Amino acid sequence: MSNENENEKAKLEKKNKEAESKKKNEKAKLEKKSEEAMSEEELDAKYSKYIKYIAIAIVVLILITVIGILNINRNKNVNQDDGITKIVTSFYPMYVIAENLVDGASNVELTNMTDVNVGCLHDYTLKTEDIKKVENADIFISNGLGMESFIGKLIEANQDMDVIDSSVSIENPISHENETNPHIWTSIDNYLEQVQTVAIELKRLDPENEDIYEANRRAYIAKLNRLKNEFNNQLEDLKDERAICLNEAFEYMAKDIGLQLTSIQTDHEESTMSAETLRNIIDIANSQDIKIIIIDKNDNRANAETIANETDAEIYVLNSGLTGNLDKDAYINAMKENIEILKSAN
Ligand SMILES: [Zn+2]
Repeated sequence: MSNENENEKAKLEKKNKEAESKKKNEKAKLEKKSEEAMSEEELDAKYSKYIKYIAIAIVVLILITVIGILNINRNKNVNQDDGITKIVTSFYPMYVIAENLVDGASNVELTNMTDVNVGCLHDYTLKTEDIKKVENADIFISNGLGMESFIGKLIEANQDMDVIDSSVSIENPISHENETNPHIWTSIDNYLEQVQTVAIELKRLDPENEDIYEANRRAYIAKLNRLKNEFNNQLEDLKDERAICLNEAFEYMAKDIGLQLTSIQTDHEESTMSAETLRNIIDIANSQDIKIIIIDKNDNRANAETIANETDAEIYVLNSGLTGNLDKDAYINAMKENIEILKSAN
């Protein structure tokens, strides 16, 4: 009996042990499982970190793109659709300034709105082809001071166009009876200012060509400064001489020389002189012993000849730089012509 009992006991103990080890195994399995589960969580955490980085990268990319688009929009007036900066000048003197500054610039198209021999624009009536030229322009270069009285119509035709007013830095332009004389460029000093203003604006509006505009500006200004020295040295003796000027365009040049203009008549483009005015000028010329009558190469000589015939004055036909060829040095050459002609007046 006791043997049997002992056997039973041993069996029970074995069973218990088996059950216990099974439990242990199951516990271990469970623990392993939960360990696996935790490492999955850890993995998730890692992934979410990556997702965060990716999200940040995407946001940065979007920001860069937005900033890029804003930058493109900021310069939208220039290189608008076709990558070409279209520059239109109002008339010949502005064209000569522009062709000096844009020389060698890439993707720039320069056009003069009016015919190069149209002269001054006081009473100019816009043509259909003028508006067409301006419609697609990025930049319009004007003389300013009322020379382009039609400017409002051009802006209406192309509101995206930037307008450069070359006269903005001219201090105290000459005025008569509240009418400003816009022919500022016949003074080399004024012309230098106009070149500087146009160059500064071109650099700002078309930064792609900034270096070229700057190099051209320096080269042209250097040439103009040499011209100015030559002009001042050669015409020194004319200072305080009296003269009759029958073309208002030369009023600025005469001021540079120091000429005392006894009479300035707007015998330029539109107006004709009355017989009474002509008589007055002849009387003044005789009483003040005036020797110089100034007219432009495009002016009618009739009035000047009448005065010259009845006085001791001589006619000097100058070049106001309003018409000419498309040579880059056209302004400089016109001024050199004027120096030679005026030198003989002494
Ligand atoms: Zn004029």
